Amino acid sequence: MADIEQYHNILKELKKYHAQLIAVSKTEPVESILQLYQAGQRAFGENKVQEMCEKRLSLPEDIEWHMVGHLQTNKVKYIAPFVSLIHSVDSVKLLEEINKQALKNNRTISCLLQVHIAAEESKFGFSEEEVYGLLQQKQFKLFTNVRIAGLMGMASNTDNSDQVEHEFEGLRQLFLHLKQNYFTDNSDFKELSMGMSSDYPLALKHGATLIRIGTILFGKRNYH
Ligand SMILES: *Cc1c(COP(=O)(O)O)cnc(C)c1O
Repeated sequence: MADIEQYHNILKELKKYHAQLIAVSKTEPVESILQLYQAGQRAFGENKVQEMCEKRLSLPEDIEWHMVGHLQTNKVKYIAPFVSLIHSVDSVKLLEEINKQALKNNRTISCLLQVHIAAEESKFGFSEEEVYGLLQQKQFKLFTNVRIAGLMGMASNTDNSDQVEHEFEGLRQLFLHLKQNYFTDNSDFKELSMGMSSDYPLALKHGATLIRIGTILFGKRNYH
């Protein structure tokens, strides 16, 4: 079940910041997605390729599908025909494959570079140094069918809001620096995807343009 009242409250808040809501529907049944769709939501986020592909088949065609979870190279081909934005690009190899599959499908796929900003160890996301390294590669310019639309990050899972704000602000500073130095003539580089159920007000305060929310829209997830 989707909480429609909560949905409208969140939308009202996001509007003040000109930010967009990505409803993260992983593990949720299509009925819940449809409830939010009927309330007006079009952008939904999933973190598993198979789940996204299956749900898509039984839902309206004008839903925008966002991949927010770690994406394996060998699965890009399944979402390449329709995916709206890939938030979780965390390697050059993945970017290369997205470009290849985008070409095959005769489209350009929008991507965010995922940056590791949390204190916790994680296998996923570029470091700041790696992002600069990537943007300086010649190969990077050959990716004709990917559109780098901005950055994504996940803050530490902590009650320490100073730390979370510090991490979000760090990502914003990186975003602004890249925009000024690497994407000067490129208005496509405009999205900052950060903030989830527990920390999205802090993300908004630090310039988030896309907020990825699951739990407070759909209730606590049941993992089977
Ligand atoms: C699950 C997930 C979210 C949403 O998390 P909630 O705490 O349920 O709001 C956001 N981003 C990513 C990458 C996720 O995997």
